[in-house]
Amino acid sequence: MTPAPSSVPPSAPSPDHESTAAPVEPHRVLVLNSGSSSVKYQLLDMRDRSRLASGLVERIGEETSRLVHTPLTGGGAEPRERTGRIADHDEALKAAAEELAADGLGLDSPELAAIGHRVVHGGLRFSAPTVITDEVLKEIERLVPVAPLHNPANITGIRTAQALRPDLPQVAVFDTAFHTTMPEAAARYAIDVETADAHRIRRYGFHGTSHAYVSRKTAELLGKTPEEVNVIVLHLGNGASASAVAGGRCVETSMGLTPLEGLVMGTRSGDIDPAVTFHLKRVAGMSADEIDVLLNKKSGLVGLCGDNDMRVIRRRIDEGDEQASLAFDIYIHRLKKYIGAYTAVLGRVDAVAFTAGVGENAAPVREAAIAGLEELGMAVDASLNSVRSPQPRLISPEYARVAVAVVPTDEELEIAEQTFALVSRGNADSPVHSDN
Ligand code: ADP
Repeated sequence: MTPAPSSVPPSAPSPDHESTAAPVEPHRVLVLNSGSSSVKYQLLDMRDRSRLASGLVERIGEETSRLVHTPLTGGGAEPRERTGRIADHDEALKAAAEELAADGLGLDSPELAAIGHRVVHGGLRFSAPTVITDEVLKEIERLVPVAPLHNPANITGIRTAQALRPDLPQVAVFDTAFHTTMPEAAARYAIDVETADAHRIRRYGFHGTSHAYVSRKTAELLGKTPEEVNVIVLHLGNGASASAVAGGRCVETSMGLTPLEGLVMGTRSGDIDPAVTFHLKRVAGMSADEIDVLLNKKSGLVGLCGDNDMRVIRRRIDEGDEQASLAFDIYIHRLKKYIGAYTAVLGRVDAVAFTAGVGENAAPVREAAIAGLEELGMAVDASLNSVRSPQPRLISPEYARVAVAVVPTDEELEIAEQTFALVSRGNADSPVHSDN
């Protein structure tokens, strides 16, 4: 498919793009994360990895669509908001491009090097960031049956961006890529091999961009290279997953064929006896789609206590709410089980890293998850744990054999780094590196 060129809003004069200056090497990357009804974007300057602007278009296709654009250059400015129907992804991206152009950061700029797309499912084929060709796009389409909620939205975002800048490299960075190093023993389900292979049923894992970034940053925090350390990464956001990373390579992760497996999440059940699904069908008369919605959207913390925001749950616990307290205990129990299991998988653990909304902010979750694990060499220092900071930091006491850390994730930066590294490959002076 060759997208028809379409106009992009012209940039206002750029502060670092004077007419007399020599042409600047392209150094900006636009990162796009397209969901079914939303698009998140960030524009980064890869010379110093600074953020130039970020934005979110939500409720695409509804009357109540909203775009919030935040300029981040020169000390930043107040976010700008647009409300009113934005019909589709094409309109959403054009509106974002207009906002960027108003800041002198238009997508027509020669300073833009590439667009990096978060793509949720790359199957077994994609173990590294990949420049998107027609053939690559077809392969991402072929994976729709294993990622029906995510890949179609990602494809729409890619097509829209291609139409906007057909001349520009577009790069797919896959959520599954970091996990393709998992050994077969961890990646295979114990089901009939022919059936599994015919339908590509295996454990793929997700949040890979975050697990890659956080495991590397954790090694940095310890003053080591990724090859030297074994890390358990706990990505605890609304979606949540754990991974065991040995010497920089993922050897086990908690999400599987889909993001439903593993930890208790905001609205997903995580691990469950598969027979529960037959039971719901046979006894409760529920359809496959209804069970899907139940387990993905109405379970986890929200199913257990009606709330999925950890701040609200903690407040309810402080007020003596027993339902919230039990939901918290179930969440922590599962987390602890995974820490123990991954300790066994790794054999030696150098660090446990907490990340994402809950992992970075909820000190009581970190404290409870590590409590009682002294035999595994793990402990949390209460005063270090109570520090709030956007920086990677240790929260374990000096005597502990295993470092426990809080390492803020940055999926957009990782996507931008991987995208820029790929499009700059061959340039010996490239200031960036890539894991893949
Ligand atoms: P996702 O990217 O999966 O949507 P995030 O990583 O942004 O999720 O995490 C969102 C979750 O983080 C919220 O649902 C909430 O439970 C939790 N969270 C955010 N801030 C705090 C906080 N200050 N204290 C406790 N939990 C928090």
